[in-house]
Amino acid sequence: MVDIIQLLPDNIANQIAAGEVIQRPASAVKELLENAVDAGATEIQLLVNDAGKALIQVIDNGKGMSVTDARMAFERHATSKISNIDDLFKIKTMGFRGEALASIAAVAQIELKTKRDEDEAGIYIEIENSIVKKQEPIATKTGTSIAMKNLFFNVPARRNFLKSNAVELRHIVDEFIRVAMAFPEIFFSLNSNGQQVFHLEKGTLKQRIVQILGNNYNAKLVSLQERTDYLDIIGFVGKPEIAKKTRGDQFLFVNSRFIKSAYLNHAIMRAFENMIPKDSFPMYALFIDLNPAQVDINVHPTKQEIKFEDEQIVYAFVQSAVKHALAQHSITPTLDFELDATIQNLDAVNKPITDLDRSSASTSTLFQTFSQKNQAHFVEKNSELKHWKDFYEKPNEQSDNNNFATATQTPVFESLLQNIEQPTEFNNPLQIHNAYIVVQNNNGYLLLNQQNAHERVLYEKFAIAVAGKAIATQQSLFPTTLELSPADTHILHELLPDLKQLGYLLEPFGNNTFVLQGTPADVGQKGDLQAIEKIVEQYKHFSNDLKFTKREKLLRTLCLQQAIKPGTVLALTEMKTLIEELFLCETPNATPNGKPTYMSFKKNELDKIFGR
Ligand code: ADP
Ligand code: MG
Repeated sequence: MVDIIQLLPDNIANQIAAGEVIQRPASAVKELLENAVDAGATEIQLLVNDAGKALIQVIDNGKGMSVTDARMAFERHATSKISNIDDLFKIKTMGFRGEALASIAAVAQIELKTKRDEDEAGIYIEIENSIVKKQEPIATKTGTSIAMKNLFFNVPARRNFLKSNAVELRHIVDEFIRVAMAFPEIFFSLNSNGQQVFHLEKGTLKQRIVQILGNNYNAKLVSLQERTDYLDIIGFVGKPEIAKKTRGDQFLFVNSRFIKSAYLNHAIMRAFENMIPKDSFPMYALFIDLNPAQVDINVHPTKQEIKFEDEQIVYAFVQSAVKHALAQHSITPTLDFELDATIQNLDAVNKPITDLDRSSASTSTLFQTFSQKNQAHFVEKNSELKHWKDFYEKPNEQSDNNNFATATQTPVFESLLQNIEQPTEFNNPLQIHNAYIVVQNNNGYLLLNQQNAHERVLYEKFAIAVAGKAIATQQSLFPTTLELSPADTHILHELLPDLKQLGYLLEPFGNNTFVLQGTPADVGQKGDLQAIEKIVEQYKHFSNDLKFTKREKLLRTLCLQQAIKPGTVLALTEMKTLIEELFLCETPNATPNGKPTYMSFKKNELDKIFGR
């Protein structure tokens, strides 16, 4: 018997391994572009011939390599980016496996030119079949140029698998766009067969998106920027009106890495629900940044999937951030309000705030409280004056040079800003007609309808409660029983689980009877039994409204029931809390039924009206 196991020669082993990393020209493009980014380049050029089949060349002005490193770089598992296993959980670079260059060298002919700033001369290296053919000093500028020619020249089976030039070039452009989108501060260009396809000047993310997707996006982007302890999310979503029938303009990045995630895509689609037709797709370019330890990027070099330590948090956060951005962008009060034309034309009603205004607002403490700890926009009880105080706080001075300009903003933000600018000038709110609240700020005043505002606040609170974070129940000292008609009993049975989430603890007791064991802690015992009867009554009112789910009907019922009614005198702290809670809502400007909650009036516009 002869032994049959033998070691594969290096070049064959490398070719096999290379197949994992380099499947087509576009995979090599991605690796080379990422290496240039990792090298700290501020200018990166990509040149391809024959859709990358004949030539892929990336020229960068990054930090270059020493002679030894240039040789080492092509060894398998040669990397400067990690040195021990712990580093895997702190990765800040695009690459870390040390496989790309070794793979490319196994399946193409390579010409490398590289020079570090501190070196007199650079180095030129030629490699073919993983073997160095030539190495000599060369005069060249700081940075690196890697040209790979005749991809798969030595693996005909793979070469035959490549698609038409049109298809392969499309893949290359896709990879190019994904990297270019993630690094707007870097200049990128793409030339194909000597023709310039992209020339992307350094700029803001918004400019980069417009450069890539086209000028028509310019006024159609809604900016999004939310920061929490757990993760940050920034970027842009397209306004609902530019949603397309085809997928494509959808970009999601995690720690600057392009990823595909059906799960997070779903979160974004949910945020757009009812704003775009069912069969269309919104544009988005969103960047999620979180501690690398919370993400497993170690899945597979060519796969774009990603594993999060806690997927659900990321889902909830993405959805709420997008919703919030969309809410900020829509200016509902003007839609429902029949007003004198002069007032309709007030800046406060229809003018977006400036980018400068916004950038300072977005760094303010108040803005941060919108999104604390995954509870985006949730108002904690007992926070009473805490957030309100933030109204007065000055924006954080050191960090307001962000690039994320926005197209439109609502009066909400405006009013916040006005208060942030000159904190001392803020006056106490004033109740009029026992139904409205007037609150002055630097630039004018807001007029709130107390019932509408409270309906909105309650609605969001209840929505959070039924989604999982139950409202605390206060146990009744003396449980009372409630008897209903058979029809009402049926209704109440259906509502029991949601009512429990909302703080009402009811137990069926047979024979159309229920025992009320507890009521929401913050509502108290006020007319508890009657309250339940009223809920059922109101609920029946909605019952023909097919467009609402049972839960939605219940939420709306409770809002109507619990909202402060006209005629209720409010104490100063109650007014302040109400205003504060309203502006922490995701959609502060309207009730669930679309009635306006407040209007904003600017002093200079008032002056104009009065000829002053
Ligand atoms: P990885 O990026 O995973 O480290 P690569 O095979 O892509 O592995 O590259 C190997 C090493 O070569 C990198 O770690 C880096 O040190 C060096 N390198 C590659 N490309 C460049 C470049 N454009 N500029 C400077 N150094 C580079
Ligand atoms: Mg790399």
